Amino acid sequence: MVIDPCELSPSYVRSIAPYQPGKPISELARELGLKEQNIVKLASNENPAGIGPRTRAAIEGALGEIARYPDGNGHDLKIALSRRYGVEPACIVLGNGSNDVLELVAHAFLGPGRAAVYAQHCFAVYPLATQARGARGIAVPAKDYGHDLDAMAAAIDDETYVVWIANPNNPTGTLLRADALEGFLRRVPERVLVVIDEAYNEYLPPELKAETVKWLRRHPNLIVTRTFSKAYGLAGLRVGYALAHASVADIMNRVRQPFNVNSLALAAATAALDDMEFVARSFAANLQGMRQVEEGARALGLDWIPSCGNFISVRVGKANEIFRRMLRRGVIVRPVGGPYQLPEHLRITIGTAAENERFLAALAASLKE
Ligand SMILES: *Cc1c(COP(=O)(O)O)cnc(C)c1O
Repeated sequence: MVIDPCELSPSYVRSIAPYQPGKPISELARELGLKEQNIVKLASNENPAGIGPRTRAAIEGALGEIARYPDGNGHDLKIALSRRYGVEPACIVLGNGSNDVLELVAHAFLGPGRAAVYAQHCFAVYPLATQARGARGIAVPAKDYGHDLDAMAAAIDDETYVVWIANPNNPTGTLLRADALEGFLRRVPERVLVVIDEAYNEYLPPELKAETVKWLRRHPNLIVTRTFSKAYGLAGLRVGYALAHASVADIMNRVRQPFNVNSLALAAATAALDDMEFVARSFAANLQGMRQVEEGARALGLDWIPSCGNFISVRVGKANEIFRRMLRRGVIVRPVGGPYQLPEHLRITIGTAAENERFLAALAASLKE
């Protein structure tokens, strides 16, 4: 072939920079010849407690049926979500992780000649999903590391069909107040879909949770996304969902792969939703761990961005270098330069008390090296 087959892809696809995930434990173990059990990974905001007992039992129970295709409608999970949140099953879209759901939004509502608005320091999937559809991304400078909603409203132009907002935001952990967020919804033209990505919702104390699900009735252009990857501990199984107006959900379901959520994930998520005690314990452990990491960072004379998630971005200076030094000590954290535009920060997932301790010791040693 005289032409590079890559050139056959539309230019907006070719210009996509690949998403950089947190480094897997197995990869670092291979590279450094370390034992996997001696490596601490605090790079992808997973739940250090694993999964709850009901969830484990449900996965085991579902193993016998894995030769069959999953329920493409996710009936049981939708019923469980519908009861929990008081929304019709027709208003729910299930995804292979909430990442999949975000892709479905882009698929259904974006394309060449259209645009999406997002904030500086936002979750990297928003610009990626936007660009992959040939749509134009409009990045709005952050204010105090968080979303500047006034500037985002002003950035909406005639071609804008989607606004992406993570609340709390990853990687900054910043939280928009409910009244500010609802004020934004009232100002946005009806044509514009507003995605409020609440991947870390379960880590918020009740008084900080916005009643986004109730807002759906007043705002048919609102899409709320949640996931089982974080507080529920199911990152490896991939399951998340969107709550939206029935006609928004309908159009998203049309571009969905028929069996996008696997049967183990469906069974696990349905059970996990009832593991309230596990989520409550994870919430409490996260608060404690957050304090531990903040105190450790303070003792090292470091600043951080106060976070409402299960992670925290700490300013360490030459973050890529510190990241590499920490890898050699068997601790994986996440540098947030590149698309995240925080070249002096490292994002650390709150781990168990012992993992946080390992992290702080490795950080102290890496700063001195
Ligand atoms: C982790 C995360 C998600 C969830 O991803 P899944 O695909 O559900 O695992 C979504 N949004 C943000 C902002 C996240 O940090």
